[in-house]
Amino acid sequence: MLMYDLIIRAAHIVDGTGRAAFVGDLGIVGERIAALGDHIEGQAHREIDARGWTLAPGFIDAHTHDDLMVLRKAVVPPKVQQGITTLVIGNCGFGMAPMVPAHMTAMQTASAAVLGGDEQPWSWPTLGALLETLRTMALGQNARALLGHNALRVAVMGFETRPASEQEMQAQEGLIAEAMQAGAAGMSLGLMYVPGMYTPQDELTRLARVVGRYGGVITSHMRGEGDLLLDSVDEMLTLAERADVAMHISHLKVTGRKNWGSINRALERIANARAHGLSITVDMYPYTAGSTTMTQLLPPWALEGGMDAMLQRLREPAVQRQILQDFAHGLPGWENQVGALGWEGIMLASVQQDAHRHLEGLTIAEAAAQLGLAPGETFFHLLLTEQGRVTIIVFSMDERDVDMVIQSPFAMLGSDGLPILSGKPHPRLYGSFPRFLRRYVREQRSLTLEEAIHKITAFPAERFGIAERGIIAAGEIADLVLFDPDRINDRATYAEPHAYPEGILAVLVAGTPVVMQGEVQAERPGHLLAPAGQVVQ
Ligand SMILES: [Zn+2]
Repeated sequence: MLMYDLIIRAAHIVDGTGRAAFVGDLGIVGERIAALGDHIEGQAHREIDARGWTLAPGFIDAHTHDDLMVLRKAVVPPKVQQGITTLVIGNCGFGMAPMVPAHMTAMQTASAAVLGGDEQPWSWPTLGALLETLRTMALGQNARALLGHNALRVAVMGFETRPASEQEMQAQEGLIAEAMQAGAAGMSLGLMYVPGMYTPQDELTRLARVVGRYGGVITSHMRGEGDLLLDSVDEMLTLAERADVAMHISHLKVTGRKNWGSINRALERIANARAHGLSITVDMYPYTAGSTTMTQLLPPWALEGGMDAMLQRLREPAVQRQILQDFAHGLPGWENQVGALGWEGIMLASVQQDAHRHLEGLTIAEAAAQLGLAPGETFFHLLLTEQGRVTIIVFSMDERDVDMVIQSPFAMLGSDGLPILSGKPHPRLYGSFPRFLRRYVREQRSLTLEEAIHKITAFPAERFGIAERGIIAAGEIADLVLFDPDRINDRATYAEPHAYPEGILAVLVAGTPVVMQGEVQAERPGHLLAPAGQVVQ
């Protein structure tokens, strides 16, 4: 009789494929599911009586910025506590590689409000070199990496605002091929950020074609998500078609009160493109506020040249006056969030300096009252003294639009959490997945449990080329989560974000528990998922 390492008995099994749940036993040997059935005969070193609990494949977070936390800490507690066993990293164009020494400090500063701050050098000349480092590490969960386009562009041509030369194009194409061969899932765009925003469509098409040749996916933080949303969606659909590449639109949303209700038009265009044979998917998090770096509030002209040039410029009173003018009146082709939301719609999430800690969790309007300054003065004061490294939360969306995106059949869940644990990060870092199951399955009943689990397991696994994970079947790797669908609940709020969810009994990575009854375990059974030597299609 076979001896199992672990048998989970009489669980309600939702296998990730979308098919109806069933009650059964699951036996694990080593890293894999060795048996699955009504009743497993045999003994195990350990058994879990799972009557009343639901067993699902480990959740996959399709959109994270956990790159640095994975590298420095190996485990991301706010994620594994949610039942997440695989993180897709390298999103929105951000990344620690490829890196050249001349731009390292500027890139660390520019990334701090999204990836977190780092004291150690970034010295990987290619993405493959960084992946090699991650491959040697024992991780608390798995990671699947994307190449960040902004990091790529900076490595080859710095913070230039012009189109790339032929030589620079070839250098970028070479670095993309290197990344794909080293096992990247694809390339992420961050077209709202410097210097991604300066990239013309022709250039994107050439670069995306390389990703397509390797069967990878382009993920995209688009140029605009408010007034520019529909144009931005069209740009991505055209890019997918011209470059012959799979396209995944990141955190699809519509921002700004006057644009609310228009998300269905974006969804229609995507559905239409899919009906015409394009491979398009999206992700979103289940909240009506977004979160990003405070520099994103500035008009594009103020950002030119990268962080140092921007800070230099902002010291000029005349420049500050011009920016306030632009906030008041807007500029063509620019998403003016301050104008759309007001200072009371923008919250300070995380700062780097202790002197400003008491402002975390306040809106810029509230912080201004505390400091005895005008809101505009407060904004410039914080940008300058914090060297731009301020993370903000923007209350910019309508619930109905968010619900419509998440429920659409081509949407999966991506937390987009910013792992900056010192301040008051957006609660999506801690709560996205339990909140998704609570809200759409238990409360609204707009998704069945089977549909919802598919969206956070097999669907993202397929999209990001994650093999042997994402479904429960004999022979697959045993990434699993055991939870109670009647009790699973997010507890993180904007005021108190550092709260782990409830209703999760156990989280397993490759057969080994990484969370038991709310406690992160010492074992690190996770891997970088990077099948090396991908073949050009
Ligand atoms: Zn983004």
